[in-house]
Amino acid sequence: MAEIKPGLVVASSNGRVGITDAVDVLRAGGSALEAVISGIKLVEANPNDHSVGFSGLPNLLGQVELDASVMVGEGLTAGAVGGLHDYQDAVELARMVMEELPHSLIVGDGAKRFASEMGKLPVELLTEDARQIWQARLERDQETGDASQRRFAQKIGALVRRVSQDPEKPAPPHGTVNFIARDREGRLAVGVSTSGWAWKYPGRLGDSPIIGAGNYADDRWGAAACTGRGEMAMRCCTAHSVVTFMRFGMPLSEALTTAMEDLRSLNDPYASEMNIVAVDRDGNHSGASTTAGKTYIFMDESMESYEEPTRMHVPLVDAPSLV
Ligand code: ASP
Repeated sequence: MAEIKPGLVVASSNGRVGITDAVDVLRAGGSALEAVISGIKLVEANPNDHSVGFSGLPNLLGQVELDASVMVGEGLTAGAVGGLHDYQDAVELARMVMEELPHSLIVGDGAKRFASEMGKLPVELLTEDARQIWQARLERDQETGDASQRRFAQKIGALVRRVSQDPEKPAPPHGTVNFIARDREGRLAVGVSTSGWAWKYPGRLGDSPIIGAGNYADDRWGAAACTGRGEMAMRCCTAHSVVTFMRFGMPLSEALTTAMEDLRSLNDPYASEMNIVAVDRDGNHSGASTTAGKTYIFMDESMESYEEPTRMHVPLVDAPSLV
C-alpha cells in the first residue's frame, strides 16, 4: 500500500520554468499526467531553452525535429511522437497519441499529419538565435563544410565527436526535459521532451520517444526518466532498468546506481553524459549523473518553491568521457 504523501513533481533542472505550474495542477486536483504535461509545455515554449521544443537546435540540415513521450503508471499506458517538424507541443501530441490512437509512437510525416488532425497550427520552430548557433558551429567545422553537399553518414560521427569535445562549447549538443509527477493517491506519470542532439543525422530518434529507454512508469514500483546521450539509454533500456531494479527489491538509490553502472559495458566511441531522475512508489526521489555536480529539482504541494539537490555522481569509468 503506497504511503500517503503530498503530490510531488520532480524534473530535470531545465524544468524550473514549469515546475510550479505542474504542482499547482496537482493542488487543483489534476492528475499526475496533467501535471507533467503542463510543466513540460512551458519548457517547450521557452525560447531560451535550445534543447527542447520551440527554438530547439536543428539537425544537420537546419530542421528542428522534436521527440516526446508520456507514460502513465496505472495500466502502463504510453504515447510518443518522434522526428516531428513544424509543430509545437510535442508532449501534448504524445498524450494524444496515447489517448486517440491504437498506437504508441508516431514519427515524421505521420506525426505532422496527426498534429494537424488534432487541430494544431504549424509554427516555425527554428528561431534566429538557434539558427545562428547552428550555422556558427557548421562554419567553424572545416571538414563538414556545407552539410547539404556532403555524405552525412561519413561526417556525422566526426562532427558529433567534435561538438562534444569542443572546448568552447558554443551550446551543449544535447539536452532534454524530464518531468515525473506523483499525485496524493500515489499515481505516477512521466514525460520527456527534446529537440534531440543538435546537428544530428536527419531522422535520428534518441531515447526520449522510446518507452523504456528515456522514460518508464509503473505505479507498482516507480518511475524514471533520462537525459543525455540517447543511444546509450536505448541500448541499456535505462529508464525501464531503474524501475525493474526497484521491482526486484533494490532501494531507489541502488536502482539508479546499478542502471548507471550498466552503461559502462557499452562499446560506444561517442559515450558521453547520461542523467536519470527517478521516483519510487512511495514518493522518494533521487537523481544520478555521469557528470559530477549536476542537479535536479523537486517540489511538493506543501512547498512554496522548488529545491535543487545534487544528483549522485556515477562516472562512466570504463568509457572515455567526451563532455
Ligand atoms: N536524450 C536526448 C537524445 O538523445 C538528448 C539529451 O538529453 O541530451 O535525443
